[in-house]
Amino acid sequence: MRVLLVTPPMTQLNTPYPATAYLIGFLRMHAAELGLVVTQADASLGLFLRLYSAPLVERMAAELGRRASTTARGVTAPPPIAHFLAHAERYVDTVEPAIRFLQRRDPSLALRIVGRAFLPEGPRFAHLTPPPTAELATIDEQLFSAFGTLGTTEQARYLASLYVDDLADVWRDGIDPRFELARYGERLAASAASFEPLRSALEGEPTLVDATLDELTREHVAAHEPDVVAVTAPFPGNVYGAFRIARTVRAAAPKATLVLGGGWVNTELRSLREPRVFDYFDYVTLDDGERPLLNLLARLRGKRAPLVRTYVRKRGEVALETDATQHDIPQRDTGIPTYDGLHLAHYVSVMEMLNPMHRLWSDGRWNKVTLAHGCYWKKCTFCDVSLDYIGRYDRPAADVVMQRIRALIAETGETGFHLVDEAAPPAAMRALAKRLLAEKLSITWWGNIRFEKTFTPELCRLLADAGCVAVSGGLEVASDRLLDLMKKGVTVEQVARVTRAFTDAGVMVHAYLMYGFPTETVQDTVDALERVRQLFAAGCIQSAYWHRFAATAHSPIGLHPEHYGITLRAPRDVTFAHNDIEFDDPVGTDHDFLGTGLRKALYNYMHGVGLDADVRAWFEPRAGARRGARQRRRRGTKLAAVPATTVPPDLIERYLA
Ligand code: SF4
Repeated sequence: MRVLLVTPPMTQLNTPYPATAYLIGFLRMHAAELGLVVTQADASLGLFLRLYSAPLVERMAAELGRRASTTARGVTAPPPIAHFLAHAERYVDTVEPAIRFLQRRDPSLALRIVGRAFLPEGPRFAHLTPPPTAELATIDEQLFSAFGTLGTTEQARYLASLYVDDLADVWRDGIDPRFELARYGERLAASAASFEPLRSALEGEPTLVDATLDELTREHVAAHEPDVVAVTAPFPGNVYGAFRIARTVRAAAPKATLVLGGGWVNTELRSLREPRVFDYFDYVTLDDGERPLLNLLARLRGKRAPLVRTYVRKRGEVALETDATQHDIPQRDTGIPTYDGLHLAHYVSVMEMLNPMHRLWSDGRWNKVTLAHGCYWKKCTFCDVSLDYIGRYDRPAADVVMQRIRALIAETGETGFHLVDEAAPPAAMRALAKRLLAEKLSITWWGNIRFEKTFTPELCRLLADAGCVAVSGGLEVASDRLLDLMKKGVTVEQVARVTRAFTDAGVMVHAYLMYGFPTETVQDTVDALERVRQLFAAGCIQSAYWHRFAATAHSPIGLHPEHYGITLRAPRDVTFAHNDIEFDDPVGTDHDFLGTGLRKALYNYMHGVGLDADVRAWFEPRAGARRGARQRRRRGTKLAAVPATTVPPDLIERYLA
């Protein structure tokens, strides 16, 4: 029986999403006993490379050109499309060389790209030319000069990445509004209570992007001749692609069995009642795929095996079949991941941010490895702690991790590793570091942690000596009152010390931040930004990102909103996806307004700009106060849109002392 595991579009471009690599490693351990031939395909990278090929760019130009010729006089195309049409031939000529360069297969092209006459430069390049203006808010003009006369390759990769973004804008604005580089049709799936919008999109007139994915899918079916196609949907931005692939497989290979699983399914489809999902898939599995898939494949081979956490359609209704006696596969027995079947040399490294920590996500290929399943803390009140992927903690021995690392190096020839843990346990990191040093195995690695006090300066140095180059972790709301309410188990003081210890050891630090938490006031947010400013200024963190808080169905806050002072709005009739829940917070803070200022501040801090400015400077005066603001400007005074911080200016320095 031939089994094909597929990653649908779109995921990151620089490295394969690990789900199929993990599953194939496991299933191949059972291949002989069940008579399986298991292969994998990355339709996300496949679609990207097809859309960024000369023939497809030419087809896009022809379609947009046709449309432009029938557009009413006086109607102008959006800037990305107008620029593309004016330089279509150059885009067709340069797209394949540019992608080859970003795949690191043609490094000499860097010299031509930095000459600025080779690639057409659309709206995404606009920030490279204007002279510096505002004191604080714009720093893009400084970025380009950061390269100086050195770093030609890096400079060229930055320019080629802007070129890729320009073309992505044209695909999205001109051909298919669902298409983005890292997501495809995301809005059709994220917390989508009804299946209808997704189904209408699937059954509607296909766009050129759709038709390209359909063609690619048919090619995979022809090449692999699968009896079973298992598609993973890790994020909402993969779901439309997953269903589209299933639709095409159904038509091209009607006898093939179709299975859907993955992170989005595990989180959002826990109350699935929509039978039409099974027009596309035969089975939908929940949580870790190893056990449900193994049992399902055994059944398909005619063996007696119960279904585990698997939705099926029975007499026109959705039924969840499971057998409680069947246990999940322990982490020590899940096998060795393998990228066999994927074209590793074809992954594309883009560089959209010059911040070195941000580049880890989009630049370069990383082998993926996990130190432990789930989270050892599992208490944060905003997190899906009631779900298996967080709540079931299972840590294999360091031997097992070392064996996987060695196998992946042998297979790929690459020694970069991303630990894809929810929160890597400090004990496991210490054990790994000691083994790497004892066995003189030189690798480069990074991953997500909790900023807890176990990370002493001594441990941070040990990790750095063993190849750890970066960590990310949650500082969240950067307020001790709110950190306590969210049961994060850390304080701002502790985060300051731990992050400084990592930085002192030469390990970069990225902080996940959150705003809009229940009961959070404007003052809380302004003070949080001040603490973050001081952490950047003190060199504790080098990178960060503000997430807007969302109440999710499977978090303690979603399950018991009354404990957090909020009221959930009555849920709509959910038959399909369910995750984010709208809520009312009586505090009534305008988080939309604050979010803009927070993002602007961070963007600048990450580039070392505005670190000594008053944090109020990042928040624009509110619309209603603009007239007053103009008068104040005339008088030489500035309107403060937010209150001054109440945080002492040396708070973080004191913590560190
Ligand atoms: S937010 Fe992170 S540390 Fe907290 S429970 Fe979730 S995975 Fe664990």
